[in-house]
Amino acid sequence: MARILVTGGAGFIGSALVRHLIANTEHEVLNVDALTYAGNLSSLAPVANSNRYRFAKADVCDRERIAALIAEFRPEVITHLAAESHVDRSIDGPAAFIETNLVGTFTMLSAALDHWRGLADAEKARFRFHHISTDEVFGALGDDGYFTEETPYDPRSPYSASKAGSDHLVSAWAHTYGLPVLITNCSNNYGPYHFPEKLIPLMIIKCLSGEALPVYGQGANVRDWLFVDDHVRALTTVFEKGTPGESYMVGGRSERTNLAVVETICDTLDRIRSRADGKSYRDQISFVADRPGHDFRYAIDASKLERELGWRPQESFETGIDKTIRWYLDNEAWWRPILARTYSGERLGLKTA
Ligand code: NAD
Repeated sequence: MARILVTGGAGFIGSALVRHLIANTEHEVLNVDALTYAGNLSSLAPVANSNRYRFAKADVCDRERIAALIAEFRPEVITHLAAESHVDRSIDGPAAFIETNLVGTFTMLSAALDHWRGLADAEKARFRFHHISTDEVFGALGDDGYFTEETPYDPRSPYSASKAGSDHLVSAWAHTYGLPVLITNCSNNYGPYHFPEKLIPLMIIKCLSGEALPVYGQGANVRDWLFVDDHVRALTTVFEKGTPGESYMVGGRSERTNLAVVETICDTLDRIRSRADGKSYRDQISFVADRPGHDFRYAIDASKLERELGWRPQESFETGIDKTIRWYLDNEAWWRPILARTYSGERLGLKTA
């Protein structure tokens, strides 16, 4: 059992990690989150009454507050997920990405280092600072090849550039100061509790409301999809068993074009909740202008994590999508209020009521 400080624990992946840690381990969790538009405490309802779970509303850029929370909780592991995470938003307004992803990571690292330096030797050896990052830091692939731990960084969007910078800061704190860090770079996550502006929930909700399903370009861009519960098992495996100073790729072995993703959603919905007029949801697909600098293909080789730490994804894309769609069908009470209270519903042309 350990004390784990999770930043960004009210977000999509962070909340899945917190729910997993409380349900399936003995660890104690302090969730530190500023509750931006992407943070949602209702994603933590299943753990809210656990005596191993606490929440603190705090900004990762607020050095004094973070230091005070660390001094009080005395974490043995810090898993740093808090970030601005949406590529389209980073194109419209990069400033918040620089602030949270770069300054916030610097703040967390320097507070973690002060804490780590004050620990006794045995505690020092056990401590881990685990930074959660993305495969987007490696740029784009052509038709072949995979990202590995050796792939050079080549970020293209303000989001991926800010995450690349934060990875470099984390590595620098290991090399320069000896802080025991871990970095994981993962592919696109999907699953329950995913904010409705992201591709998969957006398409599910648009299917259900009878709206056009906007697919960028010809839908040929390829992503590797990772079911969020598989990802949080990987994160737990890495901070429990990973070698300090190392990075690990996490992928779902589920490469799909964006068009194939949308078609799988349509076909799954055709099977479990067919349209009232008997037509296929595929009839709602509509191609729209591509976004600037849209990376063609991301694909992950996760064999180091599989070989060295024994992790494997458990969901195929089809079983994961089935679970995800059923969750959105059963949990309108979670996503409808988000559409109503954020600008994203309006911006994306979603019906907000
Ligand atoms: P998310 O946007 O759903 O959640 C981010 C969380 O961070 C929110 O709860 C938000 O309130 C919080 N936050 C934002 N700024 C903050 C600040 N200044 N201080 C404290 N809290 C703040 O993101 P996610 O999809 O859960 O991603 C989590 C992490 O995983 C991010 O670091 C992201 O870069 C990385 N990642 C995500 C994916 C993916 O597919 N979602 C893929 C690869 C890597």
